[in-house]
Amino acid sequence: MDTELDRILSEITGRGFRLTRVRRAVVEVFLQRGLPLSAADVIAALRPGNSSINKTTIYRELAFLEERGIIKEIRFLHERVKRYELAGGEHHHHLICVKCRKVEDIVLEGDLEEEEQRILESTGFRVLNHSLEFVGLCQGCR
Ligand SMILES: [Zn+2]
Ligand SMILES: [Zn+2]
Repeated sequence: MDTELDRILSEITGRGFRLTRVRRAVVEVFLQRGLPLSAADVIAALRPGNSSINKTTIYRELAFLEERGIIKEIRFLHERVKRYELAGGEHHHHLICVKCRKVEDIVLEGDLEEEEQRILESTGFRVLNHSLEFVGLCQGCR
Protein backbone atom coordinates (compact mmCIF):
# COMPACT_ATOMS: atom_id res chain seq x y z
CA MET A 1 0.00 0.00 0.00
CA ASP A 2 2.85 2.36 0.73
CA THR A 3 4.23 1.91 -2.75
CA GLU A 4 0.83 2.82 -4.16
CA LEU A 5 0.77 5.87 -1.91
CA ASP A 6 4.25 6.82 -3.07
CA ARG A 7 3.23 6.40 -6.69
CA ILE A 8 0.24 8.70 -6.32
CA LEU A 9 2.14 11.29 -4.29
CA SER A 10 5.01 11.42 -6.75
CA GLU A 11 2.47 11.77 -9.56
CA ILE A 12 1.21 14.89 -7.80
CA THR A 13 4.62 16.39 -7.06
CA GLY A 14 6.03 15.26 -10.41
CA ARG A 15 3.53 17.50 -12.13
CA GLY A 16 4.64 20.42 -10.04
CA PHE A 17 1.76 20.48 -7.59
CA ARG A 18 2.28 21.06 -3.93
CA LEU A 19 1.81 18.18 -1.58
CA THR A 20 -0.03 19.78 1.29
CA ARG A 21 -0.80 17.94 4.49
CA VAL A 22 -4.50 17.82 3.65
CA ARG A 23 -3.87 16.65 0.10
CA ARG A 24 -1.76 13.79 1.36
CA ALA A 25 -4.32 12.92 4.03
CA VAL A 26 -7.17 12.79 1.49
CA VAL A 27 -5.20 10.43 -0.78
CA GLU A 28 -4.43 8.26 2.24
CA VAL A 29 -8.10 8.01 3.17
CA PHE A 30 -8.98 6.76 -0.31
CA LEU A 31 -6.18 4.21 -0.19
CA GLN A 32 -7.08 3.01 3.28
CA ARG A 33 -10.79 2.65 2.56
CA GLY A 34 -10.36 1.36 -0.95
CA LEU A 35 -13.98 2.21 -1.71
CA PRO A 36 -16.02 4.96 -3.28
CA LEU A 37 -16.29 7.77 -0.73
CA SER A 38 -18.45 10.85 -0.59
CA ALA A 39 -17.06 14.18 0.55
CA ALA A 40 -18.84 13.60 3.87
CA ASP A 41 -17.08 10.23 4.23
CA VAL A 42 -13.72 11.85 3.65
CA ILE A 43 -14.46 14.64 6.12
CA ALA A 44 -15.64 12.14 8.73
CA ALA A 45 -12.51 10.04 8.20
CA LEU A 46 -10.21 13.03 8.68
CA ARG A 47 -12.02 14.82 11.49
CA PRO A 48 -11.11 12.65 14.51
CA GLY A 49 -7.39 13.23 14.15
CA ASN A 50 -7.73 16.73 12.89
CA SER A 51 -10.67 18.70 14.21
CA SER A 52 -9.48 21.84 12.46
CA ILE A 53 -10.11 20.38 9.02
CA ASN A 54 -12.30 22.65 7.02
CA LYS A 55 -15.08 21.28 4.82
CA THR A 56 -14.40 23.75 2.07
CA THR A 57 -10.77 22.66 1.98
CA ILE A 58 -11.86 19.05 1.48
CA TYR A 59 -14.27 19.94 -1.32
CA ARG A 60 -11.50 21.91 -2.97
CA GLU A 61 -9.07 19.00 -2.60
CA LEU A 62 -11.55 16.56 -4.12
CA ALA A 63 -12.04 18.87 -7.08
CA PHE A 64 -8.28 19.25 -7.44
CA LEU A 65 -7.66 15.50 -7.36
CA GLU A 66 -10.49 14.83 -9.78
CA GLU A 67 -9.26 17.42 -12.28
CA ARG A 68 -5.83 15.79 -12.22
CA GLY A 69 -7.30 12.34 -12.74
CA ILE A 70 -6.10 11.03 -9.38
CA ILE A 71 -9.64 10.25 -8.31
CA LYS A 72 -12.75 9.85 -10.41
CA GLU A 73 -16.35 10.61 -9.76
CA ILE A 74 -18.83 7.78 -9.35
CA ARG A 75 -22.55 8.31 -9.18
CA PHE A 76 -24.76 5.42 -8.26
CA LEU A 77 -28.28 5.29 -9.62
CA HIS A 78 -30.03 5.21 -6.29
CA GLU A 79 -27.94 7.91 -4.68
CA ARG A 80 -27.93 11.66 -4.97
CA VAL A 81 -24.57 11.99 -3.33
CA LYS A 82 -21.48 12.09 -5.48
CA ARG A 83 -18.74 9.65 -4.61
CA TYR A 84 -15.15 9.34 -5.68
CA GLU A 85 -12.63 6.56 -5.86
CA LEU A 86 -9.02 6.35 -6.89
CA ALA A 87 -8.62 6.33 -10.64
CA GLY A 88 -6.26 4.02 -12.44
CA GLY A 89 -7.18 0.83 -10.63
CA GLU A 90 -8.34 -2.37 -12.22
CA HIS A 91 -11.64 -2.13 -14.12
CA HIS A 92 -14.35 -3.19 -11.73
CA HIS A 93 -17.96 -2.76 -10.74
CA HIS A 94 -19.73 -2.19 -7.46
CA LEU A 95 -21.99 -4.13 -5.16
CA ILE A 96 -24.32 -1.79 -3.33
CA CYS A 97 -26.28 -2.90 -0.28
CA VAL A 98 -29.75 -1.33 -0.24
CA LYS A 99 -30.00 -1.76 3.52
CA CYS A 100 -26.73 -0.53 5.01
CA ARG A 101 -25.51 1.30 1.87
CA LYS A 102 -22.17 -0.45 2.00
CA VAL A 103 -20.35 -0.48 -1.32
CA GLU A 104 -17.92 -3.19 -2.33
CA ASP A 105 -15.72 -3.48 -5.40
CA ILE A 106 -16.14 -6.50 -7.60
CA VAL A 107 -13.96 -7.58 -10.50
CA LEU A 108 -15.94 -9.65 -12.98
CA GLU A 109 -14.15 -12.64 -14.44
CA GLY A 110 -14.94 -12.09 -18.07
CA ASP A 111 -16.13 -8.55 -17.68
CA LEU A 112 -18.20 -7.38 -20.61
CA GLU A 113 -15.73 -7.35 -23.46
CA GLU A 114 -17.45 -10.23 -25.19
CA GLU A 115 -20.81 -8.52 -24.89
CA GLU A 116 -19.35 -5.32 -26.25
CA GLN A 117 -17.93 -7.24 -29.18
CA ARG A 118 -21.32 -8.85 -29.77
CA ILE A 119 -23.00 -5.45 -29.70
CA LEU A 120 -20.52 -4.16 -32.26
CA GLU A 121 -21.14 -7.11 -34.55
CA SER A 122 -24.90 -7.11 -34.30
CA THR A 123 -25.64 -3.39 -34.27
CA GLY A 124 -22.49 -1.64 -35.44
CA PHE A 125 -22.45 0.33 -32.21
CA ARG A 126 -18.98 0.66 -30.74
CA VAL A 127 -19.13 0.66 -26.96
CA LEU A 128 -16.59 2.98 -25.39
CA ASN A 129 -17.56 2.43 -21.81
CA HIS A 130 -20.30 0.91 -19.73
CA SER A 131 -21.87 1.48 -16.39
CA LEU A 132 -23.13 -1.41 -14.33
CA GLU A 133 -23.97 -1.62 -10.68
CA PHE A 134 -25.24 -4.52 -8.63
CA VAL A 135 -27.85 -3.64 -6.04
CA GLY A 136 -28.79 -6.07 -3.28
CA LEU A 137 -28.12 -7.20 0.24
CA CYS A 138 -24.65 -7.60 1.67
CA GLN A 139 -23.64 -10.59 3.73
CA GLY A 140 -24.30 -8.79 6.97
CA CYS A 141 -27.79 -7.64 5.91
CA ARG A 142 -29.05 -10.79 4.25
ZN1 LIG B 1 -25.73 -4.28 4.07
ZN1 LIG C 1 -14.69 0.84 -6.95
